[in-house]
Amino acid sequence: MELAKKTIAITGAAQGIGRALALAFAEAGSDLALIDLGQERLEETCRLARQRGVKAHGYIANVADEIQVEAAADEIVGEFGRFDGIINNAGILRDAMLLKSKDGSIVGRMSLEQWRAVIDVNLTGVFLCGRAAAERMVRLGNGGVIVNISSISRHGNAGQSNYSAAKAGVVALAVVWSKELARYKIRTGSIAPGFVQTDILSSMKPEILEKMLAPVPLKRLGEPAEIASAARFIFENDFFTGRCIDLDGGLRF
Ligand code: NAD
Repeated sequence: MELAKKTIAITGAAQGIGRALALAFAEAGSDLALIDLGQERLEETCRLARQRGVKAHGYIANVADEIQVEAAADEIVGEFGRFDGIINNAGILRDAMLLKSKDGSIVGRMSLEQWRAVIDVNLTGVFLCGRAAAERMVRLGNGGVIVNISSISRHGNAGQSNYSAAKAGVVALAVVWSKELARYKIRTGSIAPGFVQTDILSSMKPEILEKMLAPVPLKRLGEPAEIASAARFIFENDFFTGRCIDLDGGLRF
């Protein structure tokens, strides 16, 4: 897909990888529909995108809420008159071990609330936003691209039953949709980043960071812009669909 003058939606665009995605697509000339939970940081992403000469509008919506997602998708089509792609990037963490025991007694477990919170945003949110985007793209008839942001945890990471299940799920959704939506000229893909330099990690103690990086062959964190470059590749390469790009510096869980 040629990115200039296309309308691309990005969820979780207020900061981190989402903001880097927005700026990379703005550099390529795409107009942007940027979705997140709050106004302030989202407006800053919009401002940075507009500085690059494109249209950018913010939409406040919870990706796990069907009514809010459908309303945002309608507003995007109303505002831009087109809908060419979505990057499902919004995500949260609620880490806990399945069980914790001490001296033969269970002293902790992942709560149903922790499970549901992550499944709601990271899996149901991708389903709702992917479906809303696909519906508009089919109606408009121009084809499009859907990219789901997964994680290296899709392979199964201790302390992340909820997150690992959701991140494996979104890779599967991209495969299913590649088969169901190809007839409408809609392609899909997912990206599974390893550790990426975002706010959470920059506040980490250097010794903990060093321990985290020890098993990474490239011995460094990924940059948000490197994740964005993979997303651009999926959009721009018309023979790509249904596959997952593992972008993790060579680390394997
Ligand atoms: P982040 O926490 O910096 O940003 C996530 C954004 O999503 C925030 O702006 C937040 O407000 C938004 N968001 C959260 N819940 C939402 C909801 N219900 N509706 C709408 N927006 C919501 O995270 P990040 O590090 O930039 O990660 C972005 C994506 O990349 C996530 O899906 C994450 O799981 C994935 N990822 C990150 C890393 C990493 O090391 N940072 C590694 C692998 C995968």
